Amino acid sequence: MTAALDPAAFSGSFDALMCDLDGVVYRGDRLIEGAPQAIRRLRERGVRVIFCTNNSRSTVDEYVAKLARFGVDAHDDDVLTSGVVTSEVLAAQGYSGKSAIVIGDRGVREGLVSIGVVLNDDPASICAEAVVVGWDVNFDYSTMRRVSDAVRNGAKLFATNRDSTFPAPEGLWPGAGAILASIEVASGQTAEIVGKPYPPMMEAVARRMVGVRRIAAVGDRADSDLAGGASMGWATILVLSGVTTRSEADALQPAPDLVVESLADLG
Ligand SMILES: [Mg+2]
Repeated sequence: MTAALDPAAFSGSFDALMCDLDGVVYRGDRLIEGAPQAIRRLRERGVRVIFCTNNSRSTVDEYVAKLARFGVDAHDDDVLTSGVVTSEVLAAQGYSGKSAIVIGDRGVREGLVSIGVVLNDDPASICAEAVVVGWDVNFDYSTMRRVSDAVRNGAKLFATNRDSTFPAPEGLWPGAGAILASIEVASGQTAEIVGKPYPPMMEAVARRMVGVRRIAAVGDRADSDLAGGASMGWATILVLSGVTTRSEADALQPAPDLVVESLADLG
């Protein structure tokens, strides 16, 4: 544990921040108190803030609008989602013009359409060259059956992230990783993962951190936000405003560089 560290002093040790959203800036439609002010203070110190979410539900424009509603200024370039990076990964692997079955919402679907992937939404069809799994509250057994058949039939399995839970205002909901686990078990295949802590997302964030000296990663989830930051050699900051409790934080190995109650303690 590094509880003796002064959060304000620590905030002066980095000039760029990969900032998670769910459980850090808000929970659902509920703002985490003090987060906008902390982001403003960090920016006033010259810290470059990139908002980075594994949640592929919304588009970048929608995240920008949501942040604005909470009093956080952000441009398109400041927000990176697993949906956007998933499109970059599939484009790089030659899936433009090919078909995919997609579990997920606008964020991932619109991104794939923008690079020319043809979405197969016919519930009776298992013909696809890729299956892309994200978080989807409408996921059900028949979809699990359909995409598992498609993967066994030769479709390559991708996932936006492997997060087991999602911090909703009233508690933890099953995340995309829970959906993915059922499909991996049923299909016998392991997915290629895009989001934090996996390299596609981490490298996409790093590409936007041009000219900075020291980067920190702040998030509420150790196995994605902090593991991703640590894999890049960045400082790691855990907030307790999301999925991780104090006792879970105390037991983390490796320990985060800093643990704070919320983003309000930074800056
Ligand atoms: Mg989070």
